[in-house]
Amino acid sequence: MGAITLDKVEKWFGEAQVIKGVDLEIADGEFVVFVGPSGCGKSTLLRMIGGLEDISRGRLLIDGRDVTDQPPSKRGLTMVFQSYALYPHMSVGDNMGFSLKVAGAPKADIDKAVAHAADVLKLTDYLDRRPKDLSGGQRQRVAIGRSIVRDPTAFLFDEPLSNLDAALRVEMRYEIAKLSQRLNRTMIYVTHDQVEAMTLADRIVVLEFGKIAQVGTPRELYENPANLFVAQFIGSPK
Ligand code: ADP
Ligand code: MG
Repeated sequence: MGAITLDKVEKWFGEAQVIKGVDLEIADGEFVVFVGPSGCGKSTLLRMIGGLEDISRGRLLIDGRDVTDQPPSKRGLTMVFQSYALYPHMSVGDNMGFSLKVAGAPKADIDKAVAHAADVLKLTDYLDRRPKDLSGGQRQRVAIGRSIVRDPTAFLFDEPLSNLDAALRVEMRYEIAKLSQRLNRTMIYVTHDQVEAMTLADRIVVLEFGKIAQVGTPRELYENPANLFVAQFIGSPK
């Protein structure tokens, strides 16, 4: 569960090609970080994997199944965004369980899924509160909790911490690392923050103008950057 393959994936917006033939194999349970400067195509690539953006050319496989033309609901993935609009009139628990409720899941199943997500995210004592009575970090955790209850095969994060202040970013980075260890699910995480990339990733994918400049472990990229662009981006001494 959760292996993702990109096969010569391209994205065109009209005449403009923003993703230029990306090949990538992501293993089940792997934590992969897409990095690169603003406008290099990180969000577009992630949104194509999630199904929020059409794939112009190439194929996307999940666990060997071609899902290139499948809608988001058929991919078993979940996206976590930087803005986390919670329903203000609902409790934390109801916010987390809402999507299952809409999907018609039995109450016992919803309660179990919410209890599990709350346990993973240390939100058990906050389930009856309203979002306004939580800290920014707790609210962000509720937003992640909404994804966990769906039991996705993979999590897609698009700069989930970029709206948080510096101290909270450090705390949440740690939370996400723990989450990844506890759930052991595939995670693809977009950031332009080198520290986040280096500390979270099993492997880093460096994007440059819609192409992969290099893929490797943080250490490989740091010690052996493929070119000056990667070296400068990763901050390695070369
Ligand atoms: P990143 O997330 O790395 O900052 P994006 O994936 O958002 O980059 O954007 C990559 C390129 O695609 C940019 O040049 C951006 O202007 C362009 N782009 C993104 N979305 C659209 C769109 N809906 N229509 C036209 N161009 C787009
Ligand atoms: Mg982006």
